Amino acid sequence: MPVTPNLEAYWMPFTGNRYFKSNPLLIETAQGMHVTTTDGKEVLDAISGLWCCNAGHCHPKIVAAIQSQATRLDYATAFQLGHPGVFELAEKLTGIAPGNLDYAFFTNSGSESVDTALKIAIAYHCARGEGQRTRLIGREKGYHGVGFGGISVGGMSPNRKMFGALLPGTDHLPHTHHLEHNAFSRGQPEWGAHLADELENIVALHDASTIAAVIVEPVAGSAGVLVPPKGYLARLREICDQNGILLIFDEVITAFGRTGRRFGADTFDVQPDLMTVAKGLTNGAVPMGAVLVDRDIYAAFMTGPEQAVEFFHGYTYSGHPLAVAAALASLAVYEDEGLYERAGQMAPVLEDAVHSLKDAPHVIDIRNMGMMAAIELEPRDGEPTLRGLEIYRRCFDAGLLVRTTGDTIALTPSLIIDENQVGQIVDIIGQVLQSIN
Ligand code: PLP
Repeated sequence: MPVTPNLEAYWMPFTGNRYFKSNPLLIETAQGMHVTTTDGKEVLDAISGLWCCNAGHCHPKIVAAIQSQATRLDYATAFQLGHPGVFELAEKLTGIAPGNLDYAFFTNSGSESVDTALKIAIAYHCARGEGQRTRLIGREKGYHGVGFGGISVGGMSPNRKMFGALLPGTDHLPHTHHLEHNAFSRGQPEWGAHLADELENIVALHDASTIAAVIVEPVAGSAGVLVPPKGYLARLREICDQNGILLIFDEVITAFGRTGRRFGADTFDVQPDLMTVAKGLTNGAVPMGAVLVDRDIYAAFMTGPEQAVEFFHGYTYSGHPLAVAAALASLAVYEDEGLYERAGQMAPVLEDAVHSLKDAPHVIDIRNMGMMAAIELEPRDGEPTLRGLEIYRRCFDAGLLVRTTGDTIALTPSLIIDENQVGQIVDIIGQVLQSIN
């Protein structure tokens, strides 16, 4: 029998600690599409860890790269010193990024990437003599991590309400989640592009001269896979351009194949000025994030004496050698194994499979984009989120790891998934939905 550690001292993130510690689930190992619990149960992972292991767990080339790096260089400060790999990674990453995102600033997480991008946006305007442009516009239901910047532009109220006044000078676009118009859309909903016009009202209210940036997830992931209506992102781009406002795409989830192409910006054919990435950057194997920056923004900072620090920002672990090794290996695996193309090919398979659950009990919406899908359920009367939690547990017992946010089941499998495994996911969810009240 496996020995269960004492669970008490660990304060678990985004977890009901007391419930979990009375009903623990512990993973010991992971390989490919599966994780294995401490008591030997194999579970199909339908969420790529947490939207991050795009090439599956413990990919041998990524493991080998990390192992080899650990024996050669464990750490190098990123301040006034470098190591070759981090420059190579910046070049590779900006080489595949769309448009003129020619510079990469490294962080250790999605949250840090978001706060870094917001700081770059404000500092960029300041560097150009427009220091009054400090407002940051997010969107209702948006998730941008847990830093003070990220929760301030974020639009999920449980993540905000305990934390005081947050950043001053933020505002929010309306969300695009309207089941009366959009329910059971396959891919991008037809209805809702006009919701981007609300940015014009926000601009009229605050005046364009006070606004630094708009930040949105191309597909809102954590709120339950909210796919942008057709034309919506292009309209945001247009209004930003008309008003000198930077557009930031938070692609922490959508980058590296998740939407069926390399980046969400490629899929939706809309170019951001800044892009945040993390998660799939290292296939989830070592924490790392990055902000990809348009060359004109970088150029605006490159003034003054050459030896002077241009941007007073950075992390002890920016460009950490182990993370760099994992990222270089991951990007190579994605390309060499054709995983971006595979995501594009498997997306219709996932779409057909999830939409087959349309008539299952409790289902009020199904939506999908690339290798992301969500099944939204009617909340139980007076007990919102409880049905979701029970489904999560029953799926796990039946050998399937899903993610539930509230009463929505999110599916974001690794891009290596095959048709049989897509079938298994939908079969198990279908059976669980039948079994639950
Ligand atoms: N931004 C988006 C769009 C995310 O989905 C997430 C995490 O899920 C974050 C930022 C935060 O990333 P991290 O948890 O690595 O800080």
